[in-house]
Amino acid sequence: MLTSSSVHYEGSALAVYFGDVTIAHTRNTAGLVVTQTNDYYPFGLPITPLGYQNQSSNINDYKYNGKELQTEFGLGWMDYGWRVYDPATSRWSSVDPLADKYFNISPYAYVADNPVIFLDPDGRVIEGDVNRVNNLKERGNSIKEAEGRRQGRLETKISERGAAGKNTTRLERRVSNSRERVEQVNEALTEIKSLEESETVYHVNSDYTAQSGGPDGETTYEGGKVMVNVARSYGLHGLAHELKHAYQFETGQLDFHNKTGGPGLLYDINDEVAAFQRQFAFKPSSLGSISSASEINARFVQQLDALYMSLPRANLNVNTGLGDIEWAYKHLGRTINLINLNPVTYNQTYKDANYSNFTSKP
Ligand SMILES: [Zn+2]
Repeated sequence: MLTSSSVHYEGSALAVYFGDVTIAHTRNTAGLVVTQTNDYYPFGLPITPLGYQNQSSNINDYKYNGKELQTEFGLGWMDYGWRVYDPATSRWSSVDPLADKYFNISPYAYVADNPVIFLDPDGRVIEGDVNRVNNLKERGNSIKEAEGRRQGRLETKISERGAAGKNTTRLERRVSNSRERVEQVNEALTEIKSLEESETVYHVNSDYTAQSGGPDGETTYEGGKVMVNVARSYGLHGLAHELKHAYQFETGQLDFHNKTGGPGLLYDINDEVAAFQRQFAFKPSSLGSISSASEINARFVQQLDALYMSLPRANLNVNTGLGDIEWAYKHLGRTINLINLNPVTYNQTYKDANYSNFTSKP
């Protein structure tokens, strides 16, 4: 079954999925030279008699699904990042880290035994620049350790000053700011875990280039995936910000426009407040001179960019009634046409009750 085609160059790691055809080639003075062809059974075992390798070219080890073939010991396993896959037995070498979510399927089964319908690009549901997500998690853990040590030093000072009868208010505030930061980081780590375990695909795109005057990151909906676009220059705190928006989608706090893939009606100022609080936890200096996440509120965010002035000052989510949504926009001087409210995509659909439950605020 050939559904699409793509060409990849020698040594590249361009992903090729089942149903695709790949011909690796190079150019010499005579023109294009085929260096390698690969054909696969559905579970990724090469159909050896159909394959071709030009012996004068380097061997391209990126094979089925663009994964690197492990040639050691003649095992022929494929490296999927989290786990190693054996196309001969169509089984993983180890238990699925998310096995408890798919308890009715063998933890060793590849794509639920259906390679025609399902893909397992890296064995998890956050895809794209997974390394950067792992870096963010590591950064989170080192922040927690450093803040823990700092809290210890501050507690010592507090008891010393307390014993000497001196004021400890400022030190106590620093301890509570530090605890607040650790709490933010812990929440971020928990949220990333639930994105990894989600059935929605979250694609972290680091190749995003900000348009002039535009944001350094934006979370959008494209081709059935949530695209977490974060320019490399935006740093890990930018990724923390955008992953918060991804989590807001996951939990029905925000939505996307069906046609543009941009933000939908549920995107409000409180979604930005929460995203900037995350960003602050990972890099406080990215937001100027404030000293705690609780200083980040709607007013603060509106001062950062005029763009945020047009966001509803309410907490809209998938359970908000249409009347309340309409009111939030009217309050901004914006009229929304409720009849045209369908071009919105959620991972949870609006509860039917909300369509009929039309109540308007006085
Ligand atoms: Zn944002």
